[in-house]
Amino acid sequence: MIYKTMSDYIKADFFTAADSLKSEGRAEYELSAPLSRCCTFRIGGLAELAVWPGDIEALSALVAAAESSGTRYYICGSASNILFSDDGFRGAVIFTTRLKKISVNGSTIRAECGVPLSLLAMAAQRASLSGLEFAYGIPGSLGGAVYMNAGAYGGEISQVLKSSEYFSPKSGRIYSLSADEHDFGYRHSRYMDRDDIILSAELELTPGDGNEIQRKMDENMEARRSKQPLDYPSAGSMFKRAPGHFTSALIDGAGLKGYKLGGAEVSSKHAGFVINTGDATAADVISLTEYISSVVFEKYGVRIEREVRIVGP
Ligand SMILES: Cc1cc2nc3c(=O)[nH]c(=O)nc-3n(C[C@H](O)[C@H](O)[C@H](O)COP(=O)(O)OP(=O)(O)OC[C@H]3O[C@@H](n4cnc5c(N)ncnc54)[C@H](O)[C@@H]3O)c2cc1C
Repeated sequence: MIYKTMSDYIKADFFTAADSLKSEGRAEYELSAPLSRCCTFRIGGLAELAVWPGDIEALSALVAAAESSGTRYYICGSASNILFSDDGFRGAVIFTTRLKKISVNGSTIRAECGVPLSLLAMAAQRASLSGLEFAYGIPGSLGGAVYMNAGAYGGEISQVLKSSEYFSPKSGRIYSLSADEHDFGYRHSRYMDRDDIILSAELELTPGDGNEIQRKMDENMEARRSKQPLDYPSAGSMFKRAPGHFTSALIDGAGLKGYKLGGAEVSSKHAGFVINTGDATAADVISLTEYISSVVFEKYGVRIEREVRIVGP
């Protein structure tokens, strides 16, 4: 089939590349894909095209084709830290969730960017390797975790990362970065300042006792279940920690627990979470977060910054 241009945002050469990868069984795609189905918030309009590469080379090839053809694209892992626009995305959203290879070699684990953090923590536990207990229960991918230095319960990906490999859309080449080249900070890595695509990462863990590792993972999961509104769709903590403050305590102290705007609500279980009570739109969530920030600033004089990324249209 010949496609001249699909839209102003998806060029024919990109679609041809996606189509031929699909015919080789190396990618899946969907036209007019409901983004609400693809993210943990269960919010979002249609993406003109959603693509799921099936191997690392297919991911690099798609990004290279998008870059050379002038196709607008966005890379997602598990989309657990993203609020998609109600108007969807004009262009192609590329999801890494089918890139799930893991290999263990001594105390080093190498994994592809789409591996869910919980699966990775379980693989480490099976190999009696400690260091990823904190990641158990975070619903993101390894790529997303490296991108924003995900962390919980005193652990952070930066503490175990040995190196990462990335594809540079600018040069079309693959590079490797050692741990100290990542410029890690609180919910920050150098990847946030560039367009590079994380392909895989190597983690250096510590030999430990499998039962003790499992116990710690269960304890973390129990803490999540008891403190977080896991029975509602959300993108986790809506805001970053403000220096010297627990953001959820500020929101709670401002009397906002349970405050609802449209279908979006400040969770009464954890004030740091904005939940989708069923029919929330992205506009509801954005208005609610702006309202929360302004009330917190008025009461405490503290500016709180959104952690969740808004993507599209
Ligand atoms: C219930 C719940 C609990 C959560 N708990 C925590 C927690 O305890 N700690 C925590 O840190 N976070 C938490 N989160 C947020 C989220 O799970 C993490 O931020 C996670 O690391 C995001 O990974 P992801 O694959 O979903 O990334 P996405 O949401 O898909 O993407 C986030 C960003 O990373 C970029 N990105 C993703 N993959 C790549 C790649 N391969 N190359 C380049 N860029 C990439 C995207 O472009 C985007 O900018 C929680 C979320 C939920 C819903």
